[in-house]
Amino acid sequence: MAQARIGVVGLGTMGAALALNIADNGFQTAVYNRNSTVTADFMANAGDLAERLTPAETVDALVSSLERPRAVLVMVTAGAAVDSVIEGLLPLLDEGDLIIDGGNADFHDTRRREAALAEKGFNFIGMGVSGGEEGARHGPSIMVGGPAASYEPIRDVIEAIAAKYKDAPCAAHLGPDGAGHFVKTVHNGIEYADMQLIAEVYGLLRHGDGRSPSAIGRLFEDWNGGVLQSYLVEITGKVLQATDPDTGAPMVDVILDKAGQKGTGRWTLIEALKMGQSPSTIEAAVAARSWSSAKSIREHGERVYPSDDLHMGPVLDSDLEEALLAARIIAYAQGLSLLAAASDEYGWDLDLAQVAEIWRAGCIIRSALLDPIAKAVRDGLPDGQLILAPSFVDRLAPAIPALRRAAAAAIAGGRAIPAMTAALGYFDTMTTARGTTDLIQAQRDFFGAHGFERIDGGSGHHGLWGR
Ligand code: NDP
Repeated sequence: MAQARIGVVGLGTMGAALALNIADNGFQTAVYNRNSTVTADFMANAGDLAERLTPAETVDALVSSLERPRAVLVMVTAGAAVDSVIEGLLPLLDEGDLIIDGGNADFHDTRRREAALAEKGFNFIGMGVSGGEEGARHGPSIMVGGPAASYEPIRDVIEAIAAKYKDAPCAAHLGPDGAGHFVKTVHNGIEYADMQLIAEVYGLLRHGDGRSPSAIGRLFEDWNGGVLQSYLVEITGKVLQATDPDTGAPMVDVILDKAGQKGTGRWTLIEALKMGQSPSTIEAAVAARSWSSAKSIREHGERVYPSDDLHMGPVLDSDLEEALLAARIIAYAQGLSLLAAASDEYGWDLDLAQVAEIWRAGCIIRSALLDPIAKAVRDGLPDGQLILAPSFVDRLAPAIPALRRAAAAAIAGGRAIPAMTAALGYFDTMTTARGTTDLIQAQRDFFGAHGFERIDGGSGHHGLWGR
């Protein structure tokens, strides 16, 4: 059998789908899984692609079946498992061979691994993959970080398996060390925000307006043909129209309303706060997931504070559509600002237009907005802000009043819309030249003699404060 172009370690959901995708694109692919029954099942289900797949019983056999310089894609659970797989591979590899971590790694781990492997003469790249199982099988969006020279030998494979936007591969080398994994992390942060915003709009229609899930699903389906066109709106339309085969109830009604928020969403926030950034829509989305897990407290709270006397006034569907558009733009804008800050902090020189371009297809946050975002970034963002780009002012200015109307109705009705209000709070703050932090500075000077800047110049001033 021909030597394999690449080896895949880990045949879980993503590893299996990527291995099939690589083989489907004509590359001989060696595969290995710690538990060999998984490998056997994988091969048994590979159909015609089995001839382009080389199953290996051991890591040694996997490495022996690879062309040189070797390339091994590690697709195992993020964290310690990646280190343990790398440790197992190193004695079998030669200098100049390449290890690719395609999982959702914390970018600090990627920086550490890249530096440690470079010292030993090995190449390492950290590669964020988005699109879930379906994307991995038929074309994900791929965000690569590491030395550009390390990516080059495997670029043709990665570009072949990536999603295509008008023939352009949604895969790119974005910068050194952890750049790819950081961009993937922020992608997921935006994904959290977008999902939460969609869920809030669903909540207003369902619990505020009393509509059925299937009717709301059809509305999302319609919206997907307009300004909200996106993968997440598309799947929301489908999810809301699905029925539970056991009970005949809407599927969404039989699902417990609790979610976790352990990985990339939380990391986005932690890193943002470390850099003095505050992507409020992402924060709200992570918070909403945390709060959701406190189910018994929420049940208790509802008993103590009944809200039967609160009623949400009528909200036009067109207002909700525009409100979601406005808040979604703000979530993207906050994500881009965070990427710009990280690029400065870590010296990555990220091309944000390129990031938006590789998000146009394949990934979970793909939407009709990404191409205009890429163009706006290429034209140069005024003050580095998407919300100030003329083409986005044209979109946001008419949509913000709808966001205000939707938010006002929701608040009057006691409906939780933390991400929508977070988006609006950010927008109103960033469009108010003189805010209220003068008072914060005065308070700080009052109790801590912290000093302040005066509008007529100079810093280190103190007030008398009538004491
Ligand atoms: P799965 O849980 O489906 O598979 C995990 C794989 O890791 C299995 O092959 C498992 O082997 C292997 N593994 C776990 N621990 C070890 C270890 N210590 N040594 C060797 N192998 C190990 O995970 P996914 O495929 O979903 O995820 C893989 C990576 O991709 C993760 O980083 C995830 O965050 C990321 N990702 C996942 C997405 C998704 O939609 N699922 C989307 C994008 C990224 P075994 O069968 O022997 O247990």
